[in-house]
Amino acid sequence: MVMNLFYPEYEVIRNKGKCINCKICQNECANEVHNYNDKLKIMTDDSMKCVNCHRCIATCPTNALKIVKADYTFKQNSNWTKSTIEEIYKQSSSGGVLLSSMGNPNDYPVYWDKILINASQVTNPPIDSLREPMETKVFLGKKSNKISRDENGKLITKLEPQLEIAAPIMFAAMSYGSISYNAHEALAKASEQLGILYNTGEGGLHNKLYKYGKNTIVQVASGRFGVYKDYLEAGAAIEIKIGQGAKPGIGGHLPGSKIVGDISETRMIPEGSSAISPAPHHDIYSIEDLRQLIYSLKEATEYKKPIIVKVAAVHNIAAIASGIARSGADIIAIDGFRGGTGAAPTRIRDNVGIPIELALASVDQRLREEGIRGNISIIAGGSIRNSADIIKAIALGADAVYIATAALISLGCHLCRSCHLGKCNWGIATQQPELVERLDSNDGCTKLYNLITAWKNEIKEMMGGMGINSVEALKGNRLMLRGIGLNEKELEILGIKHAGE
Ligand code: SF4
Ligand code: SF4
Repeated sequence: MVMNLFYPEYEVIRNKGKCINCKICQNECANEVHNYNDKLKIMTDDSMKCVNCHRCIATCPTNALKIVKADYTFKQNSNWTKSTIEEIYKQSSSGGVLLSSMGNPNDYPVYWDKILINASQVTNPPIDSLREPMETKVFLGKKSNKISRDENGKLITKLEPQLEIAAPIMFAAMSYGSISYNAHEALAKASEQLGILYNTGEGGLHNKLYKYGKNTIVQVASGRFGVYKDYLEAGAAIEIKIGQGAKPGIGGHLPGSKIVGDISETRMIPEGSSAISPAPHHDIYSIEDLRQLIYSLKEATEYKKPIIVKVAAVHNIAAIASGIARSGADIIAIDGFRGGTGAAPTRIRDNVGIPIELALASVDQRLREEGIRGNISIIAGGSIRNSADIIKAIALGADAVYIATAALISLGCHLCRSCHLGKCNWGIATQQPELVERLDSNDGCTKLYNLITAWKNEIKEMMGGMGINSVEALKGNRLMLRGIGLNEKELEILGIKHAGE
């Protein structure tokens, strides 16, 4: 007897009175959930294949569809939950490592939601952000301790290279290969229009996107895919990726089946060969080694570009950041454990790393205590969800933030967490041409532009409410924050008082 230990996670509910058998859902679903039965002349569905991406619901012309969570019940308890039981079935059937997409979904504290923002009342009055100038521009890079000018007022101090961005928000690394060309193009176009930057991730830079170079951060990861002189020169900054929040301590693997056409050309590896990024950079085993890579990249680009070092938020992040600040890096990017990814081992994603809020606060504090905060700018990432998170991140010490999942959601992502299957029905995490073309890069650019513009306006409004007129003045200003429902230790690490104090 064949036994099925797996049940559908979602159930497709079709309103037969509304369905006109137009087959749009069948054509739109790359997971082959919907099928027209010629004999019965009705639409049928295979709920087992449904990932709840909502493409069919969004495209159904008669609103005939609903996807609901299936209510098969295991005799679960708080120790042996439904997903724990199902994972054991999966692994005892496949013998493989469980893979997941997007960030850690577990019920760990979201500190952003336990931090409240101040507003001015009576003294130090608020500023009307609609009528008075509010500065959201920031410069990322090493800051000089002292500025000198000649007798004519001309600057004589040699300034370190800076990244100038119109708002403290950038699009985080997502490689071409993990997301589609159209998604990358939308990010590049929006960055140009917004005066901010996007990040190539480790997949190289498609030759059609070189023209957006001054709005591009080019990444150098352990696999060195697509890295050569022109690539390094193309970007406004170079990011060395040591780790990422969704999978600290783990490398990357894009299967050979996805290394085709432009992707193989952009990554500069043969078609069909797996793109494996080792967990370590095989030339970095110390801060001195990191320094050598930083200075090799600076030398290769004539000391004109800031070098970013990206690390995952892990237990001793403050000490790691101190080493990076002393290694010659201009910017450190810290990626919290909720950061998204195209594919990560589930156990790593859900159990390794720490929240960005705690990591950011402890890094800023440590660098200040050591008197080296001005040596390096901090970018915080790993599930920044809205403009209030950004205000809180800046007040905790960030110079700017990286966003990725929020950017993909604005492009249409419905967080179905199935990127690793390569069949994204929204044309984002896929390389299938018929799916990729569903995402129009101009439309995507408009959505990204609108999102960041809206956030920028909200940032101005919140800063105005605090009586602060520039992002620079908010940076590290923890007096603007209060904790709610946090214990003494958490407040101490965040460096903030409890609400009411
Ligand atoms: S898209 Fe809607 S109306 Fe068309 S076949 Fe599917 S459920 Fe029926
Ligand atoms: S990018 Fe696509 S596959 Fe990935 S979570 Fe979003 S909708 Fe799902």
